[in-house]
Amino acid sequence: MTRKILIAGNWKMNGLSEQLSEVRAIADGLGGQGDVSVLVCPPATLIRSVRDALEAGAHVGGQNCHFAEKGAHTGEISAAMLKDAGASHVILGHSERRTDHGEASELVRRKLAAAHAAGLVAVVCVGETLAERETGETLPVLARQLADSLGDAISPDDTVIAYEPVWAIGTGKTPTPDEVAEVHAFIRRTLAERFGEALAGGIRLLYGGSVQPGNAATLLALPDVDGALVGGASLKAKDFLAICEAARNCR
Ligand code: PEP
Repeated sequence: MTRKILIAGNWKMNGLSEQLSEVRAIADGLGGQGDVSVLVCPPATLIRSVRDALEAGAHVGGQNCHFAEKGAHTGEISAAMLKDAGASHVILGHSERRTDHGEASELVRRKLAAAHAAGLVAVVCVGETLAERETGETLPVLARQLADSLGDAISPDDTVIAYEPVWAIGTGKTPTPDEVAEVHAFIRRTLAERFGEALAGGIRLLYGGSVQPGNAATLLALPDVDGALVGGASLKAKDFLAICEAARNCR
């Protein structure tokens, strides 16, 4: 099955309205939707403006949502609110949320159901810590995160998985290409065991963790790597566009 490559930018808690000039540069550089899908996930305050600035050239997403549809949850944002603001996607279970807010996979699963109910595509993040990698726990940790974060009703149209080793996020370090390929093959196999070969074969698996213009081509050319989740380098139009360009040339 052909899986369209997805390059997703996670701005985290960065970006004021002045950042919109970078978004316009991204829109100009992309020149419309091509053979690579592009997603920009700004802070919630900028979703509407980023949506307008990108026009149809790329998708816009949130970085988190609550599991409830609405109600007494001060400071939270619902999936329907993201959608209403112009988002089509939402990142769930990012390691910074798992660490800073104690989000466990069971909570991610509830958020995933809420995202799907609102019609959002979810980018579900999984990844091991450095201690887990060093003690040989990477694959069992990922298996547990996948088992607990995903509900039974997912499809390639509504769910993307991002493998993000926690120790690679924002550090300039990445796993070796062999290590990334091993994990992505494992994730695909794990999905196939639970959801069947056909569904697993359609789900996009992104790699995330210190993706830069200089390493994107190598990472994106790996088997079972269907795109990238990019943090720091997504804040600069030039770097983000270079990664999108590497994606265009990788298949
Ligand atoms: C991320 O925040 O998801 C991420 C991968 O960050 P960075 O690219 O900066 O490592």
